[in-house]
Amino acid sequence: MWFRLAVGLCCLVLGCQGQGRSASLRRANDDFTGRCQYTFTVDSPAESSCPQAGAGGPEDEGVRTRLTLLEALVSRLMGERGGVAGEAGLRTAEEEEEEKVSQLQQDKEHLSRQVQDLQRRLEELTVETEQLRQRPCHQPQPPRLSTPDIDPAFQLGSGAFQEMKAELSEVPAPPQIQQGQNQAITSTKAQTTSIGGLSLSDDSGFIGCGVLVSVQPPVTHRKADSITGKYGAWFQDPEPLGPPYGPKTVWRIDAVGKEVKQLFAYEDMEQLIRGFPMKVLPLPDAVESTGATVYRGSLYYQRRLSRTLIRYDVATESVAARMDLPHAGFHGQHPYSWGGYTDIDLAVDERGLWAIYSTSKAKGAIVIAKLDPESLEVTKTWETNIRKNTVANGFMVCGRLYTVASYSLPNTTISYMFDTDTNQSSGISIPFNNRYHYNSMIDYNPGNKKLYAWDNYHMVTYDVKLAQSDSIP
Ligand code: CA
Repeated sequence: MWFRLAVGLCCLVLGCQGQGRSASLRRANDDFTGRCQYTFTVDSPAESSCPQAGAGGPEDEGVRTRLTLLEALVSRLMGERGGVAGEAGLRTAEEEEEEKVSQLQQDKEHLSRQVQDLQRRLEELTVETEQLRQRPCHQPQPPRLSTPDIDPAFQLGSGAFQEMKAELSEVPAPPQIQQGQNQAITSTKAQTTSIGGLSLSDDSGFIGCGVLVSVQPPVTHRKADSITGKYGAWFQDPEPLGPPYGPKTVWRIDAVGKEVKQLFAYEDMEQLIRGFPMKVLPLPDAVESTGATVYRGSLYYQRRLSRTLIRYDVATESVAARMDLPHAGFHGQHPYSWGGYTDIDLAVDERGLWAIYSTSKAKGAIVIAKLDPESLEVTKTWETNIRKNTVANGFMVCGRLYTVASYSLPNTTISYMFDTDTNQSSGISIPFNNRYHYNSMIDYNPGNKKLYAWDNYHMVTYDVKLAQSDSIP
């Protein structure tokens, strides 16, 4: 037995250390003895087989001992392999730690940048807050009427621009008329007149109707806050009908947008300056451009995309008359030089209500129509030789049409005059100032002898001087 064990161990050692030798273990049942037989075979350096060995209980012990040795050997090998794996795992863990550290550093830098951004934003907000504190607050007055106060300044982004085109024209005019007109007023003195119940001071000294001789520099009253006020129309009624609206009431339409249907009423100039209307009147039809006017308690305006004129009673807030202006071009057919669908321009003077427009028959020349202020029927028309798209705007004074040469040049002139009494036009040169370089509306108020204009968001007035026509050479 000990021999076999020794041989087995020897073979085991030889099997492990031998070079090119092979060892094998076989287990089988001995049919004769009924025992389990283990056979361990190793090649001999000299022979191809070992002597056959028998089997027995002690052999089992030997085998167990050998197996124990084998297990120890395997365990040792596994331990070595585990050590290698441990080293690899350690390296992997170190790399993971390094990655974590790198990621944390990146996160830290990112958070630092966020903190810096927030600090900058905080500083900006602090500055804004300080500026807001220093700005005076508006104190809106409570609404007196049913319609809520809505200032155009808060109608941001409502509507799109109307189509505009820029065609500048500066028409030279004979200087002799202007020179003569200026001479006519040099010796006058201030007097007071009254039109439509208004007490008026006319420092030209001339009472009643006459020719226009000069226009003073503009006086700015209000600037529109939003894009809807880039251009518009505003007026005071020269002949108001009475409460709730009087001669001090200021009417305003912000004309930018496709559906302009709001008429703002301000109690007076001071309220206009403060910016909060006493009432907003909803109009039944959209307004086209800046040609509207107010006269004898009604707003007169051109309905959008039509030649229809509307008389809107501001007291009853209803349409009092509706009438087409025969053959009138509209929506860009015959506008003023700045475009803006200014095809039909309504005007008021000492003689009543007028329309300034053109027709296909007139081929773009300005046509003047005298309108019945009640029914809007045309009572008479005049065809001029002034091409409408070469002038910036027009207004009527004492039955005479005056046109401004440029809507954008700061120092332009009133360059043409057409007299409906004589049916004659003449070139003139009365200096006129477009202070804000985009004058989209000019109307005359015979009640206070001022021009009302809307110049690039700004609502301005001009004092004018008149003189007797027979004093002009
Ligand atoms: Ca006008």
